[in-house]
Amino acid sequence: MSDHITSIVIVGARGRMGKALIREVIASDHHVLLGAVDRSGGPGRGQDAGRIAGSVEVGVLVTDDLEPRRGNVVIDFSLPLATEANVRRCVAAGAPLVLGTTGLTAATRALLDEASREIAIVSDANFSVGVALLTRLAGLAARALGDTWDAELIEIHHKHKRDAPSGTALRLAKTVAKSTGRSLAEVLRTDRGDATRPREDGEIGVAAIRGGDSVGEHTLLFLADGERLELSHRAHDRAIFARGALRAARWVEAQPPGLYNMADVLGLGAL
Ligand code: NAD
Repeated sequence: MSDHITSIVIVGARGRMGKALIREVIASDHHVLLGAVDRSGGPGRGQDAGRIAGSVEVGVLVTDDLEPRRGNVVIDFSLPLATEANVRRCVAAGAPLVLGTTGLTAATRALLDEASREIAIVSDANFSVGVALLTRLAGLAARALGDTWDAELIEIHHKHKRDAPSGTALRLAKTVAKSTGRSLAEVLRTDRGDATRPREDGEIGVAAIRGGDSVGEHTLLFLADGERLELSHRAHDRAIFARGALRAARWVEAQPPGLYNMADVLGLGAL
């Protein structure tokens, strides 16, 4: 790894992921924290970012104003409502963006597309290396098994998570659909509460379970008569997402404008 130090600005600094990111930056020899931003009001504003993350003082205070400079990489794990304004600030400053926020609207996705003509953006619903590989394996398995095996997904997350199903589950379902020539919009089933008929051939069901402190679990099941294949990933610590985002930050600095994901960062290429 080169000696270059990547300058990081974290958005959503007081959140669960923001704090994990701050701790990982402090522990890293290859990143330095230049800014920590969270929404106005609430506890922690004006306090040292290292301290609110339960670590050592770093001399960076939490502010409510995102003002990146060229040469900074912004890492945003906050709320979908905040994303559009943050993307515009990154474009104005020419700062690359690592975006982990999930539950983005179609309008925000369109803005990301537009912004990626001017800056490099890595946007992914899951920055874990294991999940990037799981997604690749899901595509390979779906392609090999075809749509005669029933594909179903179960995801589990902590009770505070706002969006359901998770962005990761939807992407896995999309990968399975795409790999077998189906359109996810046509075959996705997220609610069987009112089902009055058996499972239809080709549908892809996603069940979201919420509770406790689960950091994130995804199991993709391929079911056939007489056998079942399961591909699972369990996150035990949200530090894995923070480490993945820091890896993406170092990678994105050197990229031309474009919209990338974790598979690009890891060099997995398109399926
Ligand atoms: P959280 O609720 O603990 O933290 C969100 C933080 O964003 C809070 O501190 C909140 O005050 C702050 N915030 C709200 N509005 C803001 C604004 N306008 N400007 C700046 N900050 C603002 O949530 P979390 O568990 O840390 O998750 C944050 C996001 O990251 C969610 O969308 C979650 O789904 C996503 N996430 C993604 C990954 C991944 O790998 N991509 C992993 C975990 C979580």
